[in-house]
Amino acid sequence: MQGIQDPKLIKHFSYINGSWHSSETEFDVTNPATGDVIAKVSNAGIAETELAVKSAKAALAMWSEKSANERAHLLRNWFNLMMQHQDDLGRILTLEQGKPLAEAKGEIAYGAAFIEWFAEEGKRVYGDTIPGPSADKRIIVIKQPVGVVASITPWNFPNAMIARKAAAALAAGCTFVVRPAAQTPLSALAMAELAERAGIPAGVFNVVTGDDAHGMGEVLTQHPDVAKFTFTGSTAVGKLLIAQCASTVKKVSMELGGNAPFIVFDDADIDAAVQGAVASKYRNAGQTCVCTNRIFVQQGVIKEFTEKLTASVAALNIGNGLTDGINIGPMISKSAADGVNKLVTESVAAGAKIILGGNIDQAGENFYQPTIMTNVTNDMPIAANEIFGPVSPIICFTYEAEVIAMANDSPYGLASYFYARDIGRIWRVAEGLEYGMVGINEGIISNAAAPFGGMKQSGNGREGSKYGLDDYLEIKYLCMGGLDK
Ligand code: NAP
Repeated sequence: MQGIQDPKLIKHFSYINGSWHSSETEFDVTNPATGDVIAKVSNAGIAETELAVKSAKAALAMWSEKSANERAHLLRNWFNLMMQHQDDLGRILTLEQGKPLAEAKGEIAYGAAFIEWFAEEGKRVYGDTIPGPSADKRIIVIKQPVGVVASITPWNFPNAMIARKAAAALAAGCTFVVRPAAQTPLSALAMAELAERAGIPAGVFNVVTGDDAHGMGEVLTQHPDVAKFTFTGSTAVGKLLIAQCASTVKKVSMELGGNAPFIVFDDADIDAAVQGAVASKYRNAGQTCVCTNRIFVQQGVIKEFTEKLTASVAALNIGNGLTDGINIGPMISKSAADGVNKLVTESVAAGAKIILGGNIDQAGENFYQPTIMTNVTNDMPIAANEIFGPVSPIICFTYEAEVIAMANDSPYGLASYFYARDIGRIWRVAEGLEYGMVGINEGIISNAAAPFGGMKQSGNGREGSKYGLDDYLEIKYLCMGGLDK
């Protein structure tokens, strides 16, 4: 683990009830850029996951009874420590996940921003009073923490996907257990080390690392002491976990897959659209749920847009994320790169044309070339599936209504983007897109103050913003009677 200033941030054990917990076996964490094993991490399983849930349950009363100010103070400490250690946390993230170091540091700042934001928002858990149905009654509404929150997070944002959930849960007064993806446990454990240094009490934030996703998932979704389960990952796994949560009727939040349309209308600022497309498509080597997946371009500007996009994408540098000047790191695994290549190859067989890239890169078997394809139709594999790789399929359209119908022709409804200048069109398209988030003349839309989440099979619930706190709160109605004079 070269270049880490504070080696104590590198942890190998699960963090349960405020202590580091070793297990009998270990699993390897590898650097996707080199294939090197960078750490061996304790392989927790069902027993450790149950222990973490018990610890979170035991800590619940103590944490939920603290004032919002006290919790905010501790969360603020955690935020400060994450920012103080941004370089180290970014480096750990690049080593286990692959994204370029500047992007990794950006993710640390993005994750920390949720902790800072929810620390303050936790002070605004307001209730309500409602006029009673008769003179002797009053209706009062209070909000209380849901209880123990369990979560499973993916490898593509090893810090931010945890921070987004834990910040809201802890601010609301809930305690928290996370099982991070087995590919990226180190970022989660470094967060636990900093939570401890921040003074967050034992049992409030627990991390269990292990490669038995299924077994640990069963505990987190079915344990009677877990009140709420929150997941970020694929739609297929999300459906399975929702079903598992049914037996104990848990509150559930799901941040699942996407198939984001990116629409460029004739009246768009084409240079801005190109810049937005590159930012929303090629970040994290195309491995984000809000990545542009299908680029629809109106007939009149398709030549100009395609030429300019190709010039911009051709200038992106692919390689090890720790090397200066790299824009595109490795994909998480060989099978991920092979999966993208399969979608490209099948679409070429169906009539699409590759105008840039289109293959595994010589940098290594995990690297996929930044790619642009034209002559694509909405039903080709590269458009119908979530690509999760650095490929831009370009689809030509003529009419506004036609492109809205094509954009909505997907089971997903997470992020969408369009570039236009006509104000009437902007409202029609924004309202017509069946997506939880719409970037209008903007390719980067996530931030702590905004509600992040999807419609349709992209999930339910929202993360970030005042709406994100509600996912961790119960509404309780107090009916006060007997108030006759
Ligand atoms: P995935 O296969 O669903 O994995 C996500 C997490 O679920 C990992 O921690 C994984 O563990 C775990 N998991 C897998 N099978 C499980 C099971 N049977 N029971 C319990 N846990 C299980 O997703 P992925 O392909 O790694 O991640 C990419 C997906 O996440 C994409 O579809 C992307 O769009 C989505 N995503 C959505 C958002 C959002 O906010 N909407 C954000 C980021 C990513 P292991 O890795 O250890 O197997």
